[in-house]
Amino acid sequence: MITFKNVTKCYEDTQTYAIRNFSETIEDGEFVLLTGESGAGKSTLIRLLLKEIEPTLGRILVDGRDLSSIEGRKIPLYRRQIGVVFQDFRLLPDHTVYENINLARMIAGSGRNKEDKKISYLLSLFGLDTLFKRYPRELSGGQMQKVCLARAIVNDPPILLADEPTGNLDRGASVEIMRLFELIAGRGTTVIVATHDVDTAAGLCCRQIAIDRDARDHAYVYQKTQA
Ligand code: ADP
Repeated sequence: MITFKNVTKCYEDTQTYAIRNFSETIEDGEFVLLTGESGAGKSTLIRLLLKEIEPTLGRILVDGRDLSSIEGRKIPLYRRQIGVVFQDFRLLPDHTVYENINLARMIAGSGRNKEDKKISYLLSLFGLDTLFKRYPRELSGGQMQKVCLARAIVNDPPILLADEPTGNLDRGASVEIMRLFELIAGRGTTVIVATHDVDTAAGLCCRQIAIDRDARDHAYVYQKTQA
Protein backbone atom coordinates (compact mmCIF):
# COMPACT_ATOMS: atom_id res chain seq x y z
CA MET A 1 0.00 0.00 0.00
CA ILE A 2 1.18 3.52 -0.81
CA THR A 3 0.09 6.36 1.45
CA PHE A 4 0.62 10.08 1.00
CA LYS A 5 -0.06 11.96 4.25
CA ASN A 6 -0.50 15.72 3.89
CA VAL A 7 2.35 15.94 1.39
CA THR A 8 3.50 19.36 0.28
CA LYS A 9 6.39 19.93 -2.11
CA CYS A 10 7.81 23.39 -2.60
CA TYR A 11 10.73 23.72 -5.01
CA GLU A 12 12.80 26.18 -3.01
CA ASP A 13 14.85 27.62 -5.87
CA THR A 14 11.73 28.95 -7.60
CA GLN A 15 9.45 28.98 -4.52
CA THR A 16 6.94 26.91 -6.53
CA TYR A 17 4.39 24.87 -4.62
CA ALA A 18 4.08 21.85 -6.93
CA ILE A 19 1.90 19.87 -4.50
CA ARG A 20 0.01 21.15 -1.47
CA ASN A 21 -1.34 19.03 1.35
CA PHE A 22 -1.89 15.91 -0.78
CA SER A 23 -3.32 12.88 1.00
CA GLU A 24 -4.17 9.65 -0.76
CA THR A 25 -3.98 5.89 -0.30
CA ILE A 26 -3.29 3.50 -3.17
CA GLU A 27 -3.97 -0.16 -2.51
CA ASP A 28 -1.81 -3.05 -3.72
CA GLY A 29 -2.71 -4.06 -7.26
CA GLU A 30 -4.63 -0.86 -8.00
CA PHE A 31 -4.41 0.85 -11.38
CA VAL A 32 -4.39 4.60 -10.74
CA LEU A 33 -4.24 7.47 -13.19
CA LEU A 34 -2.80 10.75 -11.90
CA THR A 35 -4.34 13.32 -14.17
CA GLY A 36 -4.20 17.08 -14.47
CA GLU A 37 -3.00 19.80 -16.77
CA SER A 38 0.67 20.48 -17.38
CA GLY A 39 2.22 21.88 -14.21
CA ALA A 40 -0.38 20.31 -11.90
CA GLY A 41 2.28 18.34 -10.03
CA LYS A 42 1.97 14.84 -11.51
CA SER A 43 5.69 14.34 -12.18
CA THR A 44 6.46 15.70 -8.74
CA LEU A 45 4.37 12.92 -7.17
CA ILE A 46 6.18 10.30 -9.28
CA ARG A 47 9.59 11.74 -8.33
CA LEU A 48 8.62 11.82 -4.65
CA LEU A 49 7.71 8.12 -4.83
CA LEU A 50 11.04 7.34 -6.49
CA LYS A 51 12.74 9.28 -3.70
CA GLU A 52 14.46 11.51 -6.25
CA ILE A 53 13.16 14.47 -4.25
CA GLU A 54 11.94 14.89 -0.67
CA PRO A 55 8.61 16.34 0.48
CA THR A 56 8.78 19.75 2.12
CA LEU A 57 6.04 18.67 4.53
CA GLY A 58 4.16 15.44 5.15
CA ARG A 59 5.00 11.75 4.88
CA ILE A 60 5.00 9.06 2.20
CA LEU A 61 4.69 5.43 3.25
CA VAL A 62 5.27 2.42 1.02
CA ASP A 63 4.14 -0.82 2.65
CA GLY A 64 4.17 0.99 5.98
CA ARG A 65 7.73 2.21 5.57
CA ASP A 66 8.27 5.97 5.79
CA LEU A 67 10.42 6.95 2.81
CA SER A 68 12.19 9.60 4.91
CA SER A 69 13.69 6.78 7.00
CA ILE A 70 15.54 5.24 4.02
CA GLU A 71 19.21 6.22 4.08
CA GLY A 72 20.95 7.38 0.92
CA ARG A 73 22.93 4.17 0.39
CA LYS A 74 19.74 2.11 0.69
CA ILE A 75 17.80 4.10 -1.93
CA PRO A 76 18.92 1.86 -4.87
CA LEU A 77 17.60 -1.19 -2.97
CA TYR A 78 14.29 0.61 -2.33
CA ARG A 79 14.03 1.50 -6.04
CA ARG A 80 14.43 -2.13 -7.06
CA GLN A 81 10.82 -2.71 -6.10
CA ILE A 82 9.69 -0.05 -8.58
CA GLY A 83 9.57 -0.35 -12.37
CA VAL A 84 9.56 2.99 -14.22
CA VAL A 85 8.42 4.01 -17.70
CA PHE A 86 9.16 7.46 -19.12
CA GLN A 87 7.75 9.53 -21.97
CA ASP A 88 11.09 9.57 -23.79
CA PHE A 89 11.67 5.78 -23.56
CA ARG A 90 15.33 5.94 -22.43
CA LEU A 91 16.39 2.79 -24.29
CA LEU A 92 20.06 2.22 -25.02
CA PRO A 93 20.46 2.91 -28.77
CA ASP A 94 23.36 0.48 -29.29
CA HIS A 95 21.53 -2.42 -27.61
CA THR A 96 18.90 -4.61 -29.27
CA VAL A 97 15.41 -5.03 -27.85
CA TYR A 98 16.49 -8.22 -26.12
CA GLU A 99 19.69 -6.67 -24.76
CA ASN A 100 17.85 -3.63 -23.41
CA ILE A 101 15.51 -5.85 -21.42
CA ASN A 102 18.25 -8.29 -20.40
CA LEU A 103 20.33 -5.42 -19.02
CA ALA A 104 17.62 -4.83 -16.42
CA ARG A 105 17.90 -8.54 -15.56
CA MET A 106 21.69 -8.27 -15.25
CA ILE A 107 21.50 -5.22 -12.99
CA ALA A 108 19.11 -7.11 -10.71
CA GLY A 109 21.56 -10.03 -10.69
CA SER A 110 19.41 -12.44 -12.69
CA GLY A 111 20.70 -11.80 -16.22
CA ARG A 112 21.84 -14.66 -18.39
CA ASN A 113 23.61 -15.04 -21.67
CA LYS A 114 21.43 -17.91 -22.83
CA GLU A 115 17.79 -17.40 -23.68
CA ASP A 116 15.75 -16.09 -20.79
CA LYS A 117 12.22 -17.52 -20.67
CA LYS A 118 10.90 -14.52 -18.77
CA ILE A 119 12.03 -12.13 -21.50
CA SER A 120 10.64 -14.39 -24.25
CA TYR A 121 7.33 -14.53 -22.40
CA LEU A 122 7.07 -10.74 -22.12
CA LEU A 123 8.07 -10.21 -25.76
CA SER A 124 5.35 -12.61 -26.77
CA LEU A 125 2.77 -11.06 -24.40
CA PHE A 126 3.43 -7.61 -25.88
CA GLY A 127 3.53 -8.83 -29.49
CA LEU A 128 7.25 -8.13 -29.90
CA ASP A 129 8.45 -11.71 -30.55
CA THR A 130 9.71 -11.00 -34.06
CA LEU A 131 11.48 -7.77 -33.09
CA PHE A 132 13.88 -8.94 -30.40
CA LYS A 133 17.01 -8.47 -32.54
CA ARG A 134 16.10 -4.96 -33.63
CA TYR A 135 17.66 -1.74 -32.38
CA PRO A 136 15.45 1.02 -30.93
CA ARG A 137 15.88 3.16 -34.09
CA GLU A 138 14.24 0.32 -36.05
CA LEU A 139 11.05 0.45 -33.97
CA SER A 140 7.93 2.63 -33.92
CA GLY A 141 7.20 4.75 -30.84
CA GLY A 142 4.56 2.31 -29.67
CA GLN A 143 6.94 -0.63 -30.07
CA MET A 144 9.66 1.24 -28.16
CA GLN A 145 7.28 1.95 -25.31
CA LYS A 146 6.31 -1.74 -25.17
CA VAL A 147 10.01 -2.61 -24.85
CA CYS A 148 10.25 -0.09 -22.01
CA LEU A 149 7.27 -1.72 -20.33
CA ALA A 150 8.86 -5.15 -20.67
CA ARG A 151 12.10 -3.78 -19.24
CA ALA A 152 10.24 -2.16 -16.34
CA ILE A 153 8.44 -5.34 -15.26
CA VAL A 154 10.96 -8.05 -16.17
CA ASN A 155 12.11 -8.31 -12.55
CA ASP A 156 8.51 -8.44 -11.25
CA PRO A 157 8.50 -5.22 -9.24
CA PRO A 158 5.40 -4.84 -7.05
CA ILE A 159 5.03 -1.21 -8.17
CA LEU A 160 5.08 0.26 -11.69
CA LEU A 161 5.26 4.03 -12.22
CA ALA A 162 4.88 5.81 -15.54
CA ASP A 163 5.28 9.51 -16.29
CA GLU A 164 3.39 10.59 -19.42
CA PRO A 165 4.06 7.23 -21.11
CA THR A 166 1.88 8.10 -24.12
CA GLY A 167 3.24 11.63 -24.58
CA ASN A 168 5.17 10.71 -27.74
CA LEU A 169 2.65 8.25 -29.20
CA ASP A 170 -0.25 8.49 -31.61
CA ARG A 171 -3.74 7.71 -30.40
CA GLY A 172 -3.76 4.05 -31.47
CA ALA A 173 -0.46 3.26 -29.80
CA SER A 174 -1.48 5.24 -26.70
CA VAL A 175 -4.65 3.19 -26.23
CA GLU A 176 -2.65 -0.01 -26.70
CA ILE A 177 -0.08 1.01 -24.08
CA MET A 178 -2.80 2.00 -21.60
CA ARG A 179 -4.42 -1.43 -22.06
CA LEU A 180 -1.06 -3.04 -21.23
CA PHE A 181 -0.91 -1.05 -17.99
CA GLU A 182 -4.37 -2.39 -17.20
CA LEU A 183 -3.19 -5.93 -17.98
CA ILE A 184 -0.14 -5.53 -15.72
CA ALA A 185 -2.29 -4.19 -12.85
CA GLY A 186 -4.63 -7.15 -13.38
CA ARG A 187 -1.68 -9.43 -12.64
CA GLY A 188 -1.28 -7.84 -9.19
CA THR A 189 1.18 -5.00 -9.77
CA THR A 190 0.33 -1.57 -8.35
CA VAL A 191 0.34 0.70 -11.41
CA ILE A 192 0.44 4.51 -11.21
CA VAL A 193 0.35 6.42 -14.49
CA ALA A 194 0.74 10.21 -14.62
CA THR A 195 -0.94 11.55 -17.73
CA HIS A 196 -2.66 14.67 -19.03
CA ASP A 197 -4.43 12.50 -21.60
CA VAL A 198 -7.57 11.13 -19.95
CA ASP A 199 -9.21 10.19 -23.26
CA THR A 200 -6.83 7.33 -24.03
CA ALA A 201 -7.76 5.73 -20.71
CA ALA A 202 -11.50 5.79 -21.38
CA GLY A 203 -13.13 2.48 -20.57
CA LEU A 204 -10.19 1.11 -18.63
CA CYS A 205 -10.60 -0.38 -15.20
CA CYS A 206 -8.73 2.23 -13.19
CA ARG A 207 -9.18 4.95 -10.58
CA GLN A 208 -8.50 8.51 -11.52
CA ILE A 209 -6.96 11.00 -9.12
CA ALA A 210 -7.41 14.38 -10.79
CA ILE A 211 -5.15 17.16 -9.64
CA ASP A 212 -6.74 20.48 -10.54
CA ARG A 213 -5.14 23.79 -9.89
CA ASP A 214 -7.73 26.36 -8.97
CA ALA A 215 -6.80 29.51 -10.84
CA ARG A 216 -8.32 31.86 -8.27
CA ASP A 217 -6.38 31.04 -5.16
CA HIS A 218 -3.72 28.65 -6.48
CA ALA A 219 -4.99 25.93 -4.19
CA TYR A 220 -5.03 22.36 -5.45
CA VAL A 221 -8.19 20.31 -5.47
CA TYR A 222 -8.13 16.52 -5.60
CA GLN A 223 -11.05 14.73 -7.17
CA LYS A 224 -11.50 11.01 -7.24
CA THR A 225 -13.57 9.47 -9.97
CA GLN A 226 -13.87 6.04 -11.45
CA ALA A 227 -12.71 6.10 -15.05
P1 ADP B 1 3.23 18.05 -14.21
O1 ADP B 1 3.99 16.77 -14.21
O2 ADP B 1 1.81 17.87 -13.77
O3 ADP B 1 3.34 18.78 -15.50
P2 ADP B 1 5.32 18.99 -12.42
O4 ADP B 1 5.30 18.15 -11.20
O5 ADP B 1 6.36 18.74 -13.45
O6 ADP B 1 3.85 18.99 -13.08
O7 ADP B 1 5.47 20.53 -12.00
C1 ADP B 1 4.63 21.14 -10.98
C2 ADP B 1 5.14 22.55 -10.76
O8 ADP B 1 6.43 22.49 -10.16
C3 ADP B 1 5.28 23.38 -12.02
O9 ADP B 1 4.91 24.71 -11.73
C4 ADP B 1 6.75 23.29 -12.34
O10 ADP B 1 7.21 24.44 -13.03
C5 ADP B 1 7.37 23.19 -10.96
N1 ADP B 1 8.63 22.41 -10.98
C6 ADP B 1 8.76 21.12 -11.38
N2 ADP B 1 10.04 20.69 -11.22
C7 ADP B 1 10.73 21.74 -10.71
C8 ADP B 1 12.10 21.94 -10.34
N3 ADP B 1 13.01 20.96 -10.42
N4 ADP B 1 12.45 23.14 -9.84
C9 ADP B 1 11.55 24.14 -9.72
N5 ADP B 1 10.24 24.02 -10.05
C10 ADP B 1 9.83 22.85 -10.56
